[in-house]
Formats: sequence, C-alpha cells, structure tokens
Amino acid sequence: MLDDDACYSHLARRDPAADGEFFVAVKTTGIYCRPICPARLPLRKNVSFFRTAAEAHANGFRPCLRCRPESAPDSPAWLGTLASVRRALNLIDSGFLVDHDVDALADTLGMTARHLRRLFMKHLGVGPIEVEQVRRLHLAKKLIHETGLPITEIAFAAGYGSLRRFNEVFLNAFKRPPSSLRKKRGANSSAAPLIVSVALRLDRTSLRTPDHLELKVSGSASALIRSVKGTTVTVELVNVAPRDIATAISEIKQRLHSHRPSFAAR
Ligand SMILES: [Zn+2]
Repeated sequence: MLDDDACYSHLARRDPAADGEFFVAVKTTGIYCRPICPARLPLRKNVSFFRTAAEAHANGFRPCLRCRPESAPDSPAWLGTLASVRRALNLIDSGFLVDHDVDALADTLGMTARHLRRLFMKHLGVGPIEVEQVRRLHLAKKLIHETGLPITEIAFAAGYGSLRRFNEVFLNAFKRPPSSLRKKRGANSSAAPLIVSVALRLDRTSLRTPDHLELKVSGSASALIRSVKGTTVTVELVNVAPRDIATAISEIKQRLHSHRPSFAAR
C-alpha cells in the first residue's frame, strides 16, 4: 500500500529516487505523472497516487506529455512481485498479447486465466488486459516522441491491429491525433536510425553497460548503446523491424538488468 502523505512529500521535492515507485494522478486535469514532473505542484486534495501507470490508466487518467510516464523506470511493484507475475509481465512487455490471448498467456505460465487475473489484481491492482492496453499506448507515445517512424508503422509496432484502431484509442486518451505529438513536422522517416531510450531501475553508480548487444529477436538485429545518463540508456536498434521493436526493447531491458552487479559484489 502507498502512503499518500509520503508520496506527496516526494512529489513536492521532485525526488528522483521516487521515480518509478509511484505515479500521481491529478483529478482536475485527468493526467498522470511521474514524481519528478516539472509541472507546477498540484494541490494535495486534487491528487491520488497509484503504484503503476496501468492502475492510473485503468482509472481513466492519461499520461503526461511533459514528464512522459512511459519513460519511467519499471515499478518495484512489478519487479518485486511473484516470479510468475513477473514472468507474465515480461511476456506482455515483449508483445505476447499482440498475437495471443490471456488464456494462452496463462497456459504458458501453467495456470488458469482466472488464477492469473487474480494474481494480477492482488499484486498490481489491474488485470493482464489493462496492462496490455497501457503497454501499447506507452510504446506508441514513446516512439512518436523519440523516433521518426511514420505513425502507421508505430501503430503496428505498438501492437494495434490497424491504424484506425490506434487513432481511435489515441484520440480517446489524448483528445488529439497521434501526429500532433510530433515536434518536427515532416520528420517522419523509416530511413533514420531507430534510437530509443530505455529506463532501468538501477543504482546509478553501479551501471556498467556493454557497448553492443546482439539481439535474439532476429538473425541480424542488434543494439548499439549510444549513451547512458543516470539510469536512462539510449540505444540504437539496428536491423529491427517495427513489429519486433517491443520484443527488442524488452530484451535490452532484461539483458542490461542482468549486468547489474550482485549485491554481494558491492
Ligand atoms: Zn507530468
């Protein structure tokens, strides 16, 4: 359970250590933010706190355009949860629910869909479908902000079955079309290098990243580490098709997390 007063005090200080720990939803604007959001501090009576972005989303809030909740490090509510839930989250993160339903996901984990949903509700406060919905929206928003990929390719990369469906969901959430988030008009290009940021939940000083990762997603796919700033790693995806972006980012995150020195080694 979150302690609302403690959360508000982290928010008031824009505490970087609280980033990913919780999200704050502002009732007057319908937006949810990271604790580090540069926007003016909302009044205490106007905010509520959620453990995960998925929970804020399921309660009808939309992600902030300034602090970009889709770029927050993974929530410890996700990382610290049961191994089976974590496995389910990793599968969802890599796009499993684009081609499969929740029954297939539960099957893979050796449990019934009902049991899986019960575990999700208990540990995350939302079901697998809600997690998938917010994953798609977050990935699409991230790719719009960070890459020059055309909107159609982004729709498919994020797992939407059609451009129409993506536009519908996006308009519903943001009351504006996807292209309106693009800073540079006419910058759309599939030819530009595909550079994305990956946020890790790590002790800042302990991060030792390799320069280059061969990815399993396809024979020639790889990731070049371009920069590391705090816990944000900027990577260039090489030979990664739009439909494989989710899997590639998920793999990079998991591989870089495994580079974390063990606690015993510190
Ligand atoms: Zn914000």
